[in-house]
Amino acid sequence: MALRFYNTLTQQVEIFTPLHDNVVRMYTCGPTVYNFVHIGNLRTFTFQDILRRWLRARGYQLDHVMNITDVEDKIIRNAAAQGKSIGEYTAVYTQAFLDDTATLRLERPERMVKATEHIDDMADAIEKLRAKGFTYTSDGSVYYRIANFPTYGKLSHNDFSGIRAGARVDVDEYDKADARDFVLWKAQKDGEPAWETPLGAGRPGWHIECSVMAMKYLGETLDIHTGGVDLTFPHHENEIAQSEALTGKPFARFWLHAEHLSIDSQKMSKSLGNFYTLRDLIGMGYAPEAIRYLLASVPYRKKLNFTFDGLKAAATSIERLRNYKLRLETAKLAAGTNEKWTARAAAATKAFDEALDDDLNTAEALGAAFEFVRDANSAMDAGEFLAGNAPEAFEFLDRFDSVFDVLKPSVAEGGLTDAEIEALIAERAAAKKAKNFARADEIRKELEAKGVILEDTKEGVRWKRK
Ligand code: AMP
Ligand code: ZN
Repeated sequence: MALRFYNTLTQQVEIFTPLHDNVVRMYTCGPTVYNFVHIGNLRTFTFQDILRRWLRARGYQLDHVMNITDVEDKIIRNAAAQGKSIGEYTAVYTQAFLDDTATLRLERPERMVKATEHIDDMADAIEKLRAKGFTYTSDGSVYYRIANFPTYGKLSHNDFSGIRAGARVDVDEYDKADARDFVLWKAQKDGEPAWETPLGAGRPGWHIECSVMAMKYLGETLDIHTGGVDLTFPHHENEIAQSEALTGKPFARFWLHAEHLSIDSQKMSKSLGNFYTLRDLIGMGYAPEAIRYLLASVPYRKKLNFTFDGLKAAATSIERLRNYKLRLETAKLAAGTNEKWTARAAAATKAFDEALDDDLNTAEALGAAFEFVRDANSAMDAGEFLAGNAPEAFEFLDRFDSVFDVLKPSVAEGGLTDAEIEALIAERAAAKKAKNFARADEIRKELEAKGVILEDTKEGVRWKRK
């Protein structure tokens, strides 16, 4: 079966291929950099990472743009409260976002673009919308007239035929129930930062940045647009209204939305205060890979309820996979190849691929990996798994890890790298050989203190991180 995604626009699962060549043009609404992101935000970004990696595994190249919203009501409020410029204020959280996503092993999109670096492009687009009759001005601010865009509501599948023409919102924080004319350009208010443009002194509303930056870098029609499910309405609906009014062409072919991470059955959010940041969890001693695994383990269109038990179970699951890999690396297998096991590895790969082709069913893909590991362990116990079968098993693990990326432990701060560990193990072996058992013991203890456990087996020394 071909690669398929659920498209919010059509409410159907559809076969995906890019419009042009082999390149997937994809846009993701990035963070508003007014604070550290929480693991709810990171669930959505982890889904996008899995999506990127799977598209590549399926032979596509990516041209992926993510915006950084670095001008917005909360940013302006917080920066003013701290006596900083918005540039100074957002630099800290932009860097924190880049650091956090790197810690979670999320690939960097090909382009990360800032709203404040595209103000002139936005002013141009607003001028064009004005020329086409989609705007009106009130008190110096420019609004989008949604009554002039008859298909408004097609993404969120809401019937807005009763739109209150002329009812406006001019903040960045939107009401989820009501479709209202939204602000494109806000006239400068006292003390607020502003840009001089042909529209007057002011700043853009939130929605226009995504239309403008997406089309500037990716063209008028994107292959995929993604974001969290809360962005469907009004943000994405407004992006469509702006972009399609400008070009007369479909803005994005596929809309993929990630469900929320909840906690105690409530959406994790800054405003409710029920959130953990990545830094909180790492500070409590959880490994980034366990957090990544947990966020990726539930298919992106299903709600995921965060619990510490779930996080511990994620760490245990990773441990099982790592133990199997270690066994594969160190076991002395009998020569030959067992055809049955060649077929079993091929079946595992097929099941894994089919699961991810099916709208990124990560739960099933993980299921395929664990079944394989369970069966392979039993086959090893029974001596049926032969040396010739090991490369196939490694290949399967590599494919698994090219998407899930959890097998290699993160080096904790002050921890040892693999090379440093290997060097100490070699020194310990040399010390033993020279009958310097005191030194050999010292090395074992030093490694243990740094979270590395040694196991002396018939087949040599194995090590793993705690
Ligand atoms: P924001 O910085 O608030 O614009 O959010 C960045 C991204 O995180 C958006 O795609 C949101 O939809 C998403 N998001 C916010 N809260 C959650 C949550 N609890 N679970 C999953 N995604 C979320
Ligand atoms: Zn957006």
